[in-house]
Amino acid sequence: MTRHDVTQHEVIPVIGNPAPHRRGVPDVAHASGAHFAFTDRWGGVSAAPHAELNLGGAVGDDPEAVRTNRARAARALGIDAASVVWMNQVHGKDVAVVDGPWQTGEIPAVDALVTARRGLALAVLTADCTPVLLADPVAGIAGAAHAGRPGLLAGVVPAVVGEMLRLGAEPDRILAHIGPSVCGPCYEVPEAMRAEVAEAVPEAWATTRRGTPALDIAGGVRAQLGRLGVAVAGASAVCTLESADHFSYRREHTTGRLASYVWLDG
Ligand SMILES: [Zn+2]
Repeated sequence: MTRHDVTQHEVIPVIGNPAPHRRGVPDVAHASGAHFAFTDRWGGVSAAPHAELNLGGAVGDDPEAVRTNRARAARALGIDAASVVWMNQVHGKDVAVVDGPWQTGEIPAVDALVTARRGLALAVLTADCTPVLLADPVAGIAGAAHAGRPGLLAGVVPAVVGEMLRLGAEPDRILAHIGPSVCGPCYEVPEAMRAEVAEAVPEAWATTRRGTPALDIAGGVRAQLGRLGVAVAGASAVCTLESADHFSYRREHTTGRLASYVWLDG
């Protein structure tokens, strides 16, 4: 498959706990104009059990702390905190097409966002589920999806890609980045659950290190993207459950949320 000249891009691996050479404002400039950023748990103001950089607004944290954290993350990324589009994620497959931040009232219950507005940042919240960021820099279309086990099964990834294509994106131009999530060997599930998911997405079939049934959701996401003709340009090597630098629902139950951001240069 021929790729257009849009493959130069930069992933910002963390905001809260930058590597020494990244201290200060991360360098988010790159040739393609597509930006993909994934936070870790450090650098915010939330107290335990949401310490420190909790970006989720519905996990029992102090709303003022979340506001401060979101402002810090946006500042580190060089984007406007007020214009980031968040979701009320419900483990479904609904996609909202947006051209600006939600005005007032309730944030819609969707698990994916698509925009044709350059400069508008889309955000996914996770703590073990798989964040999927997509951008076609040529068409100026960005997408973001929250893919946990139910989302993988429901098809939120094909849904968000489908919406991007409808707006003019092309599969071989889409840059896909998969963020940090729980790995296959750590995501133990009942046998029947593994069978149900693997019937729909065989690549999600996994086993734990003890040999018990498990699911590789990121692997399933990668396979779904592949079937749509979308190559994965980058995938996090972090397992949230194994990493002390990331929030993990499975490990901590009451905990914060990581955020993954995608946007195109305006
Ligand atoms: Zn793991």
